[in-house]
Amino acid sequence: MRALRLTAWKSDPELVEVDQPHPEAGQVVVKVGAAGACHSDLHLMRDFSDDGPVPWHPPFTLGHENAGWVHEIGSGVTGFEVGQPVAVYGPWGCGVCAHCARGFDTYCENPAAAPVPGGGGGLGMDGGMAEYLLVPAARHLVPLPDGLDPLRAAPLTDAALTPYHAIRRSSAELTPGSTAVVIGAGGLGHLAVQILTATTAARVIAVDLRAEALELAASAGADHTLRSDENAAQAIRDATGGHGADAIFDCVGTDQTLALGAAAGRVLGDLTVIGIGGGTLPVSFFSVPYELSVQTTYWGGRYELAEVLDLAARGLLHAETTTFALDDAVEAYHRLERGEITGRAVVVP
Ligand code: NAD
Ligand code: ZN
Ligand code: ZN
Repeated sequence: MRALRLTAWKSDPELVEVDQPHPEAGQVVVKVGAAGACHSDLHLMRDFSDDGPVPWHPPFTLGHENAGWVHEIGSGVTGFEVGQPVAVYGPWGCGVCAHCARGFDTYCENPAAAPVPGGGGGLGMDGGMAEYLLVPAARHLVPLPDGLDPLRAAPLTDAALTPYHAIRRSSAELTPGSTAVVIGAGGLGHLAVQILTATTAARVIAVDLRAEALELAASAGADHTLRSDENAAQAIRDATGGHGADAIFDCVGTDQTLALGAAAGRVLGDLTVIGIGGGTLPVSFFSVPYELSVQTTYWGGRYELAEVLDLAARGLLHAETTTFALDDAVEAYHRLERGEITGRAVVVP
């Protein structure tokens, strides 16, 4: 079968021929219906190296946002049928530590027993930018609810699950009368806007550099959109009676967006860093609002993926997608890098 593989750090992936996987006991092979192209893959191709920030390395097949149909079932696996549509929960931990037991393989505390600490398919192990995907444990599969097909589900497994988890963490801040800000209205950000609108009473402000991204955010339900420039923090303060935003979700993570988040945040608010743009935020007593909590978050939990899929099946969440054939997957990443994708690029093998 064909697979889009990252063969070395600091390089583009290559479309190559590899053996089709078959499941061993407890495993499942999924026929890939769709695999999303995440900006994190660009960080893998451009920024990562053996010096960090992850303990695993190429070669592996890209694609960590996957959905498809059960194709081949290993011995001992029950509860799934060949042909059944499923989403793949992407982070693959040990399965038994306290965090994995709660469905948070993202934060597996037993790295020696996890196949790729902090990673999964497309992140250290072979992912879904191929015709078939080997899923090493059946517990990573979440059946798709009625009305949701793999193409619509694939981007939700990361581009929606990640902001969903971050937004849930800030639920205490997102009361009626509150304001949430989404910085970066791309793949994750346009879904963050929809999740805020569907699950909270907060007013939503979206901030981006690109007019198309701001238009998408507005059509996704943002109450207000802003260009990301030196006036954005003041504009957010003006829109919130001078108080600042209660919860800010930075889906970029550069020096500039972190500074914007801190400058636009409210006393007692939350600033959640989701983007891995490599920026830093200097913190000193008077440089950030009192009791503004700054936190990073990584992906989400398995039960949260089921909740995200339910929101989508009920029409409350919809990923805007541009589809590419596997042959054009490298081009999809190049277009993402040039800022030419609105919503999510999805590869359909
Ligand atoms: P994307 O390219 O689809 O979207 C990024 C958006 O940010 C674009 O619309 C871009 O125009 C905008 N942007 C860039 N610079 C900006 C600035 N200075 N101000 C405002 N907007 C700006 O990317 P994506 O796939 O949505 O990923 C976003 C980030 O989140 C990436 O860094 C990615 O690696 C990271 N990510 C993190 C997690 C996690 O678990 N924490 C999960 C997935 C992705
Ligand atoms: Zn991702
Ligand atoms: Zn674990």
